[in-house]
Amino acid sequence: MSDFYLQNGVLHAESLPLPELAEQFGTPCFVYSRAVIERNWRAFTALLPEPHRVCFAVKANSNLAVLQILARLGAGFDVVSGGEIARVLKAGGKADRIVFSGVAKSDAEIREGLQLGIGQFNVESIAELEQISRIAEALDKTARISLRVNPDVDAKTHPYIATGLEQNKFGIPMVDALPAYQLAARLPGLDIVGVDCHIGSQLTELQPFMDATDRMLALVDTLAEHGIEIRHLDMGGGLGVRYGDETPPPVGDYIQALLKKLESRPELALYLEPGRAIVANAGILLTRVQSLKSNGRKTFVMVDAGMNDLIRPSLYQAWHDIVNVTPSPQAPFDCDVVGPVCETGDFLGQNRQIAASAGDLLAVKSAGAYGFVMSSNYNSRPRPPEVLVDGDQAWLVRARETRDDLWRSESLIP
Ligand SMILES: *Cc1c(COP(=O)(O)O)cnc(C)c1O
Repeated sequence: MSDFYLQNGVLHAESLPLPELAEQFGTPCFVYSRAVIERNWRAFTALLPEPHRVCFAVKANSNLAVLQILARLGAGFDVVSGGEIARVLKAGGKADRIVFSGVAKSDAEIREGLQLGIGQFNVESIAELEQISRIAEALDKTARISLRVNPDVDAKTHPYIATGLEQNKFGIPMVDALPAYQLAARLPGLDIVGVDCHIGSQLTELQPFMDATDRMLALVDTLAEHGIEIRHLDMGGGLGVRYGDETPPPVGDYIQALLKKLESRPELALYLEPGRAIVANAGILLTRVQSLKSNGRKTFVMVDAGMNDLIRPSLYQAWHDIVNVTPSPQAPFDCDVVGPVCETGDFLGQNRQIAASAGDLLAVKSAGAYGFVMSSNYNSRPRPPEVLVDGDQAWLVRARETRDDLWRSESLIP
């Protein structure tokens, strides 16, 4: 659900007209709605009281203020690096509510996690089990662990964001899961607490989640037969959102379907790690039309945001709705919305119907997840600011980068 809606024909973020925000903060600019973030979060937690747990996948949007909002609501956090652990703590999140995922954790990151007392490590390989055991033993600590198992289900999503197939780099193959757990039970410094999987992102059907759950529960039973008690089942993130004409299952249906499978297992807590479902529709990228250009076949609407600001269209062929923020006197025309970066792949939208003139403001919708976090300085473009709207207030939660920021850590040679 969105709190970006038209009032007298002008697109607003909560109570604030976007042209006002563009005036105040410049363009391009990410704008987030606190109300949407909180509403999306509560849709999960309302159905998953403790001992179940919802862990926000920090990689989807790691702005400190966004993490702070969630930390104040008592969130758990799913992180994939030491940097993300540091962000969660800086934003007021609790170490013991952190789940540490990721395929190539360094010794330093594992040491840091153990010293901070993070909730659990989601372990992606036998080698990592041995690595964590060795470090935990040396520090005289116990690492709570789950093994990330690859249930080999097809998430039916873009190949770059499918993670639960045999051919993907993530997790331990199901056939190796029992011996891996038996090894974990023998190794010093480890406390087995759960089983974990994450089959992909932007899933728009329930079935792959259901298939994965069945396979994971079968594993829980096999482990129990071998004397290994599992306390929680972490089903990862991946619930899709509506960018255009997708029809992902409502959060409630998704959670109820999962809980139904756990009905006869009151001892088993469900963990989820949603990222996109919490923040995607809570953000837009605000950009200004620089000029129009026609090459006879195509009209290009050239804007001041590019693939360095929002890479999803270029990287995943992702579709984001793009709308004019104010009413246009023109009729909509066929166009590609393109940025200033020197790449043919630098587009925000292709074959759209938009009415726009130079100087107009456009909103690229559903840009709250995997937007700013994937931005770069390619073409020496300073990264855009992030603004958080809360009712009729707007907070600058990350300033626009300056020229000096571009070379802050570089040096000239003598
Ligand atoms: C990316 C990721 C998530 C979040 O995925 P969404 O599709 O944003 O919900 C959760 N868990 C792990 C391990 C991930 O890598």
